[in-house]
Amino acid sequence: MADGLREILLIYALENAVKHKSVPKPGAVMGALMGRHAEFRSRTGEVAAVLKEVLAEVAALSTDEREARLQVLAPDLLRAEKPKQEAERVLHALEHTEEGVVMRFAPNPSGPLHLGHARAAYLNDYYVRRYDGHYVIRIEDTDPRRVEPENYGLLLDDIDWLGLKVGEIVYQSDRMDIYYEHCRRLIELGGAYACMCDAAYFRDLKLEKKACPCRNQTIEENLDLWDRMLEGEFCEGMITVRVKTDLEHPDPAMRDFSIFRIVDAPPHPRVDARVYPMYNFSVVVDDHLLGITHVIRGKDHIANTRRQRYIYEYFSWNPPVFKHYGRLSIGGVVLSTSAIKEGIVSGAYTGWDDIHLGTLKAIARRGIEPDAVRKAMIDIGMGETDITFSWENLFAQNKAIVDPKANRYFFVPDAVMLPVADAPAHIAEAALHPNEPERGVRRLLFEGSVILPKGEIEGRTMVRLKDLFNVNVAWEGERPALTYAGESLEEARKAHAPIIQWLPPGQARDCTLKTPEGDIEGYCEEAASRELNRVVQFERVGFSRIDSVAVDLVTAYFAHR
Ligand code: GLU
Repeated sequence: MADGLREILLIYALENAVKHKSVPKPGAVMGALMGRHAEFRSRTGEVAAVLKEVLAEVAALSTDEREARLQVLAPDLLRAEKPKQEAERVLHALEHTEEGVVMRFAPNPSGPLHLGHARAAYLNDYYVRRYDGHYVIRIEDTDPRRVEPENYGLLLDDIDWLGLKVGEIVYQSDRMDIYYEHCRRLIELGGAYACMCDAAYFRDLKLEKKACPCRNQTIEENLDLWDRMLEGEFCEGMITVRVKTDLEHPDPAMRDFSIFRIVDAPPHPRVDARVYPMYNFSVVVDDHLLGITHVIRGKDHIANTRRQRYIYEYFSWNPPVFKHYGRLSIGGVVLSTSAIKEGIVSGAYTGWDDIHLGTLKAIARRGIEPDAVRKAMIDIGMGETDITFSWENLFAQNKAIVDPKANRYFFVPDAVMLPVADAPAHIAEAALHPNEPERGVRRLLFEGSVILPKGEIEGRTMVRLKDLFNVNVAWEGERPALTYAGESLEEARKAHAPIIQWLPPGQARDCTLKTPEGDIEGYCEEAASRELNRVVQFERVGFSRIDSVAVDLVTAYFAHR
């Protein structure tokens, strides 16, 4: 632990020193640590001692040396072109990285990826980048019941979108002969046996910690059954290959688990096979042969790690370093592949990118950028404690990315069109971006009437139409009457008039704003329809992605405020 702490402190001290071109400030370094790593808050004594050493070490370096060290330890922190964004959190160092790292992201092609997968993808990616390692994307497709041809494409799209540092892409279905050969070797080593027991019978024996009759077969008998299995002599359910583990193991799931099975149907879309390795076997063989040094995965895999260690032991292979992070509950969206599939079939969801889903495709459609997901996941880190996903943090990260890019437009929900009495014709010039005047303006031509959000004028006596002028609101029963009230911002302030969005009827397009809570019907500026596939900010409403532009309707997907 102390090692991790020292390295993190060193990085923040270097960052502080490089940023201010001076010796590092103890308070700022401590603040950076405690702010980004709550786990150290209860260890201030120990932290203070290490901090003292680290500060002295950094103070002794020259400016160039500090930069060079930061470049090695955390190059991202040196990039000056993103001053508005917060520095990325620095995660604990990994052990045993002296000879480099090879890591993997190993999704199943049972559907597209969702936010839960993004955590595994980005944590592994983070360390691959940090240690300049090799990243293997392994498509785990040895369960024909969970593979459909179109899923491969969906998955590859998602991997592309995530922007991982992909070193190679490996398909398990291309490696069947390797698994078969290693199963034979495991049998020869006395580590596995072919079992023809009925599943229920085996389970009863297993629960009583008893061996089934097949366990005592000779190696030759097992090899013979294995060959016949491969030759197609048996049908699904008749035979399986089991690893010899420990029948006394307190967890029955560890006892002689299965590593190969026959699947008669459906046929596999990529390979002509009937004998398939089970997850725990193919993963060990691949992790070893592909030279994987570190495996970061969820703690729901802890039991698998235990099972996998038996296989490593029989082959006398060194297992990689395993790290298991806690569960992440992601509220408010649907993640389950089967629920999504059913919803698509029933028409409850429009597709894999329906706004109610937590798939990356749905997130992307809302205008969330991959880098925001990356930052949110790195902020969550590798802690073993179960936590709840913070949408607020994802949105804040995304806002930092899209705010500088997004042009501003008006969107008027809950619309009403009203004349403004006594008003001169006027062209409003509204900035496309408040901080970047060089981008220019939208010209909105006022010719007597405006479209307004009805709820915003209710109960008001004056409102200011943004970038236009003030109007008095008089109420005669249900119907408001608007009158021109001059251009003075000062008067609007004095009257506590809210500044609201509006549209000239001649420049308004019908617009549906899709949100997870439901569709909002309204109007947007004509010019927003030229922003197809881009994120804009609808002023006072929020950041939204222009999703489609038809002759009579603009559809936008709401991201966040
Ligand atoms: N294909 C497995 C999954 O998606 C990989 C798990 C692992 O990291 O070993 O859960």
